[in-house]
Amino acid sequence: MNHHLSSREHKAQNSVVPVGEVQVGARRLVIMAGPCTVEDEDSLLKTALAVQASGAQVLRGGAFKTRTSPDAFQGLGETALQMLAKAKEKTGLPVATEVTDVREIDLVGQCADILQIGSRSMQNTVLLKAVGRCGHPVLLKRGFANTIDEWLAAAEYILAGGNERVILCERGIRTFENSTRFSLDILSVPVVKSRSHLPIIVDPSHAAGNRELVGAVARAAIAAGADGLLIEVDCCPDATKVDGRQTITTGQFAELMPQLCAVAQAVGREL
Ligand code: PEP
Ligand code: MN
Repeated sequence: MNHHLSSREHKAQNSVVPVGEVQVGARRLVIMAGPCTVEDEDSLLKTALAVQASGAQVLRGGAFKTRTSPDAFQGLGETALQMLAKAKEKTGLPVATEVTDVREIDLVGQCADILQIGSRSMQNTVLLKAVGRCGHPVLLKRGFANTIDEWLAAAEYILAGGNERVILCERGIRTFENSTRFSLDILSVPVVKSRSHLPIIVDPSHAAGNRELVGAVARAAIAAGADGLLIEVDCCPDATKVDGRQTITTGQFAELMPQLCAVAQAVGREL
């Protein structure tokens, strides 16, 4: 039988994706934290230093965004990449940021250590093939209307191009439940772990849609076996243009990290 490159049949051992000195998928969990969207240099640096001090190992921040509406703020693009590059230089933290279009890959790749494929782009096969040809680690978010099989098939496009550095990211799916922004499919973590050797992290922020709910689902993700988290954190989330309601403060992040550490230890991992 012709097994998929992402499958356990193809490769039994867990894959570990190196991001500079950081290893995603190893015993130590990786926390990626930062603003939804890079909006100004000072708050980006302040946030980056604060999350680093609390133990985050990767800085996240959007430059090119895939917003649902064309009227919504689309990100600062190249200007945001320059701000990310400065924050990276000052902190040494590797950077994860989104690519929305094949034409952005070279530019974004000059600054970013991880290329994020957003939920709305998960089935953009042209983009998947293009990141499959580059050497950067790719963070592949689950489409919010996609099954786990479709998500793994999307990963296959990247792997088939020769790029083995794929990290999956569960971020919640659309269900009839409307008390939260999306429904976090916590079971996708053990399901993916049983079917695939690829590392999987969880984004609790976009599912929760509300910063008061982020901690509970972040702890649950670690308990379920996730290899890390992608969390929206900002020094001043109420002043941001995008996703401020679901973005935890740097203070909340500092309180959350020891809790995540305790959960990690309970399930045989470390942080
Ligand atoms: C984000 O990470 O800010 C983002 C836009 O996420 P998603 O693609 O999962 O909606
Ligand atoms: Mn966001």
